[in-house]
Parts: sequence; C-alpha cells; structure tokens
Amino acid sequence: MYDFLIIGSGLYGAVFAHEAKKRGKKVLVIDKRNNIAGNIYTEKIEGINFHKYGAHIFHTNNKEVWKYVNQFATFNRFTNSPVANYKGELYSMPFNMYTFNKMWGVVTPEEAKAKIEEQKKEITGEPQNLEEQAISLIGRDIYEKLVKGYTEKQWGRDCKELPAFIIKRLPVRLTFDNNYFDALYQGIPIGGYTKMVENMLDGIEIRLGIDYLEHKEELDKLAEKVVYTGPIDAYFDYKLGALEYRSVRFENEVLDIPNYQGNAAVNYTDRETPWTRIIEHKWFEFGKDEAGNDLPKTIISKEYSSEWKLGDEPYYPVNDKKNSDLYKLYKMLAENEKNVFFGGRLGEYKYYDMDSIIESALLVCKKVLD
Ligand code: FAD
Repeated sequence: MYDFLIIGSGLYGAVFAHEAKKRGKKVLVIDKRNNIAGNIYTEKIEGINFHKYGAHIFHTNNKEVWKYVNQFATFNRFTNSPVANYKGELYSMPFNMYTFNKMWGVVTPEEAKAKIEEQKKEITGEPQNLEEQAISLIGRDIYEKLVKGYTEKQWGRDCKELPAFIIKRLPVRLTFDNNYFDALYQGIPIGGYTKMVENMLDGIEIRLGIDYLEHKEELDKLAEKVVYTGPIDAYFDYKLGALEYRSVRFENEVLDIPNYQGNAAVNYTDRETPWTRIIEHKWFEFGKDEAGNDLPKTIISKEYSSEWKLGDEPYYPVNDKKNSDLYKLYKMLAENEKNVFFGGRLGEYKYYDMDSIIESALLVCKKVLD
C-alpha cells in the first residue's frame, strides 16, 4: 500500500512526490503521457533540448524557490530578451531606449519620454477598449507596430473590441536594459527540464501511459491518499460543464542551418503574419551542447494562438466570470472528496509560472505531510 498516489509527473506532482519521499512516505507517480515532466518536458533532438509544450524560462524573485530548484539542476545564465519583428523592422521587446531610438531616432531618455507623453495625449477620457488603453500607456506608434497585431492574433479579436482591463500596464524603460523579466533569478536548467524532473523523482516509482480516470477504482485501492494534478472538471466527468482554455498550436521544424534568427524568441507583431512568435530552441543554451560544441542544426517552433475545444491540449485557463464561477463549483465538489488533494495548473484551473507552482506545492506539502 502506498501512502500517496500522485496523478501527474509535472512540476507540481514532482515536487510533492520528492517531498513525500523525503519524509519517508511510500509514493507512486502515474502519468497518462509516456514521459515525465508534464508541460516542462524537454526532448533532446539534434543535440538541442527541445521544449515540446512551449518555451519555458525559469524566473523568480523567491530566494527559497531558487535554492530549491538548484538542488536538482544547475541553471545557465540565459536572460530573456525577446525581439519584435514588425514587417521586417526589428525592435527590442521590453520597450526600452533601443526600441525608442529605432522607432523615433531619439537618443536621450528625456527625448523618449517627451515623445511618449506627447503621443499619450491622444486619449483624454477613460479608455473604453484595449486600443485606447494601450495608447494611453505608450502612445500610438508603439501601439500600432508592437502591440496591436500581436494582441489581435492572441485573442482572435480586434483591439477595439477587447476590454481595456486586459492591459493593466505596459512597462516602459528609459534605459538600455533588454532583460524582459523583472526577476532576481532566471535561467534554463543545463541538460533540460526533463533531467531536472528526473532528479526530483529519483528513487520514486513511476508508471507512464496510464490515465488515472480510466482506471480510477483499481488505482485508488493502491494508496491512502491521492494528489491529483489533472483537469478538475475531467475528474468529475465534466458533470457541471467543461472549463475553457486558450490553446497554442506549435509548428516545429528541424533546419539544416546553424542559425535561423539569432535569438530564442522573436515576436511577430504585425497582424498579417499568422504566427505570434518563433522560438529557436538552441539559443536557450547558447547554441552549444553540454560539452560546449556548436550545434550544426537548429529547431524552430512557430506558435499560433488557437481556439480550444474539448480534447485539445489545455494551455491557458480563461479567467473570465463564466469560467471562474464554474471553477468555484468544481472546487466545492473537490473539497468534499475524501483524501484527494487537487493541485497544479489544471487541478486548480489557474495560470501558474513554474516558481509559483513550486511555492504552492511546497505549501501544500507543509499542510499535508508535516
Ligand atoms: P502539468 O505540467 O500540466 O502536469 C500535469 C500532468 O498531469 C501532465 O503530465 C499530465 O499528463 C498529467 N495528467 C493529467 N491528467 C491525467 C490523468 N487523468 N491521468 C494521469 N495523468 C494525468 N512558466 C514559467 O515559469 N516560465 C515560462 O516561460 C513558462 N512558459 C509557459 C508556456 C506555455 C505555453 C504554458 C502553457 C505555460 C508556461 N509556463 C511557464 C507555466 C508552466 O508550464 C507551469 O507552471 C507548469 O508546467 C505547471 O505544472 P503542473 O504540474 O501543474 O502541470
């Protein structure tokens, strides 16, 4: 008999499993996929750690979380500095002095600030939609070239039809700092995320390719308690209806050239290019293998924002009223399930960055295991 049956070998399940084992508990981890690591899974192709379910960059301000993950991997010095491509014009993505210089030819922070202030004046009253909100924050030129098309592709709707609250802030930097994240610590685990999760699950029994919900009755008999990190609505057989997600579709290509775009992420900010961005995976690790050799090929992923339907890979929860209300009802049902703990991005129907997943799993471990 196991103390814990953990459904899902993603980051949440792996942290819980590691902590339970550390405290002497007997643990079994199962996953319906044939690989561990959930959405942070990386696969080695042509020597490149390919981020199969979307590019993942670890970043945090939490020193404890940083110390925690560093037990399982050494992180490289990758710093996220996306580039925007607007019809062939390239801009720095956190809006900064490089962006303003390219956009207007301004040289000093004072000139840049004056230009933004002048353009912001276009909007006088309370912004009525996303377009007006964005212009009131950064002015028309940056909105037109760097925000509009990208946002419309992401949401599949015109910015004038989107509510203003979606964009609360658009950080403007009057410096030459190209570091996208405002985080004390960031990087990519050397050797890939799968290796990191493998280290977390060291010595723990794992069974892959098993869907818990298809074998629930027999699996439940194996353990005292269950930690479930799959979709909460699926657990209850969608009896109150399906929660909605936004999805992303990836088109991946291996190219027989060493360098496609010279950067890990290039956002396509015009409306006409159908993809939102292209990820070139090798640049997360500076184009080299672990021995420091240059890699001859490259892998790119074009990302398309897509509507989600039941059966598709769920990516981003939709945090509107309808779905939040439905989640609350499922949560009430979940609270009545004896000896089952719901956690993680699908179990809690919540967008979590990796550092928040670790924080949240450790908090539950304290409650459940100590
Ligand atoms: P998951 O990784 O989804 O793990 C859940 C596991 O449960 C899966 O392996 C699944 O197969 C399994 N499972 C589900 N149902 C069943 C079942 N019935 N039976 C058996 N197994 C089941 N965070 C960052 O910090 N930085 C980033 O750059 C970043 N980029 C992202 C990009 C994208 C496109 C997305 C969608 C997310 C990104 N995130 C990023 C967030 C990050 O992916 C999550 O924080 C993390 O993966 C969540 O881990 P989890 O264990 O909760 O879920």
